Amino acid sequence: MAKPLVAIIGRPNVGKSTFFNKMAGKRISIVDDLPGVTRDRIYADVEWLGRGLTLIDTGGIDPRSDDVLLSQMREQAQIAMDTADVICFFTDAREGLKDDDREVANMLRRTRKPVILVVNKMDHPGMQNHLYEFYELGLGEPIGISGVNMLGFGDLLDEIFRCLPELPPQDEEEEHTLQMAIVGRPNVGKSSLANRILGQKRTMVSDIAGTTRDAIDTLYVDEEGNSVNIIDTAGIRRKRAVEDETLERYSVLRSIAAIRRCDVAVLMLDAADGVTEQDTKIAGLIHDEGKAAVILVNKWDAVEKETGTLEKTRKKILSDLKFMDYCPVLFVSALTGQRVHTVLDQVRQVYAMARKRITTGVLNDVLNEATNALQPPMQGGRRLKIYYATQQGVCPPSFLLFVNDEKLMFFAYERYLENCFRKAFDFTGTPIRFILRPRKKEDGQS
Ligand code: GDP
Ligand code: GDP
Repeated sequence: MAKPLVAIIGRPNVGKSTFFNKMAGKRISIVDDLPGVTRDRIYADVEWLGRGLTLIDTGGIDPRSDDVLLSQMREQAQIAMDTADVICFFTDAREGLKDDDREVANMLRRTRKPVILVVNKMDHPGMQNHLYEFYELGLGEPIGISGVNMLGFGDLLDEIFRCLPELPPQDEEEEHTLQMAIVGRPNVGKSSLANRILGQKRTMVSDIAGTTRDAIDTLYVDEEGNSVNIIDTAGIRRKRAVEDETLERYSVLRSIAAIRRCDVAVLMLDAADGVTEQDTKIAGLIHDEGKAAVILVNKWDAVEKETGTLEKTRKKILSDLKFMDYCPVLFVSALTGQRVHTVLDQVRQVYAMARKRITTGVLNDVLNEATNALQPPMQGGRRLKIYYATQQGVCPPSFLLFVNDEKLMFFAYERYLENCFRKAFDFTGTPIRFILRPRKKEDGQS
């Protein structure tokens, strides 16, 4: 179950990033240890009294451009209303209530999502009277905190969890419709692909400034009765008020929400551009969330080809996205329809891989073969011993490895085991995870 998303919004300089960074501690990167993935402090997983949530720092407002500040704040609030489960609206006790705060509050009062009014920079108890004017916003009782002094964080987190809906119990038996998200940079062809698959015109939201949406969901049922819910994140369009950097950040934010609720992500690239930095970022999100994926190279019609172009391009893409080199790559044209009919088949195949269960016996046969062929690493005269493996879960397939000492494991050896598992069990398109458990002393000698 995905953790609830909590968005932090508010004017520039009210202390959003300070709060975010204090909460996030060191765990602020998207894909910490994966080479090639740009670090970006967009979201952070936070634990509070045994419950988890994900904070998103919507950021992206340029305070230098006074005239468009308000429209940027509206855009930010809209994104939060579209994507988050709870919205924390930050204001500043030192500056007091501002007109821009009132404007944003007007928007927020219309959402059905829970909104928490936070008054930051309440650095000492003597400032209590600074809170009163914020009641005027009509967003309920303000919660005073001090980001720099880390005061009031507990009250705020309690309030956030109080607002969250109880998660419904998951029914394993219930029939599940495959959720497929189409993600990628603006203009790579996401809408075109969705329309091509769906085969008829869908009602499109127009380009009117200010219209934004998280994603369009469309249920697609093929001739054999297989259904797929297509989550199209194309909703973000260039708006005059939004700077390039902001646009990029917002498109990543929208991708996060879609990726988290999908079973399989279709990552679209533009054949003419290859893998760009932002593509890598979105790919990193998919991998990090443990989601299966298919890589689509779109606009293949527009590429000048000679013998071997396709294979060369495939190799280049998989080497640029090294941490995802287990993914199938399809070359399509949403414009002409070339190979578009293979997309859903491929998506279903990788979803099957993500749900695959390996029996413990077979798993340990493969593990033994692997450790016999290449001995586990040694450090300080001690060798890693892997006693036993068992599959802990699916989506992504995760394996518990019982070991003598998890500190003896090296990345290269883990990668080797992963390759052995992939050779034996396929797992095309899905990440797999290893969880190392030291075997306890009482279980026997080590
Ligand atoms: P953002 O633009 O909303 O992300 O704001 P920042 O987190 O960058 O903070 C803006 C300024 O306010 C920085 O100089 C912070 O040090 C300061 N600041 C943040 N939180 C507090 C606080 O609780 N008390 C005081 N006095 N200053 C704060
Ligand atoms: P989105 O922002 O990712 O949803 O991208 P769109 O589907 O709106 O497409 C952006 C532009 O790329 C439009 O002008 C499309 O006509 C064009 N486009 C989409 N797919 C293809 C393709 O396969 N080949 C070519 N040549 N152009 C395409």
